[in-house]
Amino acid sequence: MSEQLKVSVATDAGFCFGVRDAIEKARETARAHGKVYMLGDIVHNERVVSKLAEENIKIVDSLDQVHDAPVLFRAHGTVPELWEKAKAKGLSVVDATCPLVHEIHSEIVKLHEEGRKIFIIGDHGHDEVVAIQAQIPNAVVLSTVAEAKAVPRLKRAGIVSQSTQMIENVQAIIGILTMKVFDLKVVNTVCYPTRRNQEQIKELAPNNDIMIIVGSYTSANTKRLHQVSLTMNPNSYMVESTDDIKAEWFENAASVGVSAGASSPDDLIKEVIEHLKSLHVKTRE
Ligand code: SF4
Repeated sequence: MSEQLKVSVATDAGFCFGVRDAIEKARETARAHGKVYMLGDIVHNERVVSKLAEENIKIVDSLDQVHDAPVLFRAHGTVPELWEKAKAKGLSVVDATCPLVHEIHSEIVKLHEEGRKIFIIGDHGHDEVVAIQAQIPNAVVLSTVAEAKAVPRLKRAGIVSQSTQMIENVQAIIGILTMKVFDLKVVNTVCYPTRRNQEQIKELAPNNDIMIIVGSYTSANTKRLHQVSLTMNPNSYMVESTDDIKAEWFENAASVGVSAGASSPDDLIKEVIEHLKSLHVKTRE
């Protein structure tokens, strides 16, 4: 005897509004100007990037490769040096920076102007973190509790975080700095689409036999959602497409919860859901 697997999908799985708007801006600009350049991938998802390439959205490594069309600055922000270089070259820039990332940039400047030592909770080398760090001199990036433990005692400090950080990591690092800093100001800059995604996974993970998180293996945001899921359900898997889904995962399962990273396109998520719905599982006798 077999029955269909019960599939529950997180309400807000997939593209956040920042990524959705940036992609729309890129498409509009390419349509209006024949093409648009972009420094690096718009999102960490190969399927999205190759689809956009067909729509004349061209990825370049340097502003020197930009000619006769606008350049789009991506959702997760761009270092001031590149803004200045684009201006000096007279390039037309389309700003697709997410408004919530602009907010992080202005908050870090305010904290710096208050004379605080600044910490950014985020991944070393991630483009968003690099651009946040470049807004002021001497900001220090902390990615782990171990790094926070190495911070010396301080009189005044301020904290912001990368928009897609795991809430638990942010809380743990703030907890440690609270013990070391006399006057500590924290601006919670984990964005609400990220918080909402993490909350929805926490609801699904304990209530389903299996969890599937859809997204590219190169997406830090998807990896983080997978980690959140793993803390509550050891049978949590990250998949890039239906090809990665293994039938043996569902041998003793009756239900599966699905979520996706902020860079995973709707059609990919839909394909995974349809595939899961087509799976039949053995009923327990
Ligand atoms: S993850 Fe958050 S901050 Fe980043 S682009 Fe999406 S909405 Fe904006």
